[in-house]
Amino acid sequence: MSRTYIQRVSKELSHTIYYRFTCEQCGKDSNWLPYTITGTGICEGGYIKVNPTGEVSDETKRQVIEEAQKKLSNNMKTCRKATDKDVYRFSEKCQHCRKSQSWQGKGGLMISIGKGLGVAFVGEVSIMLLRYFFKLPISNNVHGIITVASVSIAMIVEILSRLSIKIRTKDVKNKKKPEINWNNWKF
Ligand SMILES: [Zn+2]
Repeated sequence: MSRTYIQRVSKELSHTIYYRFTCEQCGKDSNWLPYTITGTGICEGGYIKVNPTGEVSDETKRQVIEEAQKKLSNNMKTCRKATDKDVYRFSEKCQHCRKSQSWQGKGGLMISIGKGLGVAFVGEVSIMLLRYFFKLPISNNVHGIITVASVSIAMIVEILSRLSIKIRTKDVKNKKKPEINWNNWKF
């Protein structure tokens, strides 16, 4: 077993759940809609173990898959905990009348934290790619400013959009909740 320089090894695992709702505005059924939850395992670039053929070692592959499984499991649990508090990530409007539902207005802060973390993660990966592949000289200060700005914007947009749904649906008399099919996930 030798070591060689590898850019990065990653693996994304996903699980699709389904939800449906009866529209609070027009009373029509949405039918089952898919929502996919993911978890990504990453082994950062560096000198890592490879097989004699130069491929990433089975050990590294296993670690990356294990990390992806753990993250997917955590993300599923977070989604479940949130729905237990009537906070839903599904933002699909009614396909018939294009109106938002009252249950989509809750949990702005909670969901925005998740979105912020997602943006921070995507941002880190993008900056890494720009630095290594395009050799762009991005200083740590610029890096920090880009991350803080993009995370703040994503969080504010999420909070405002939930707040706006809350205001628009505050007079809904027949408030409902979506029905969720966890698609055989073992919590
Ligand atoms: Zn509708």
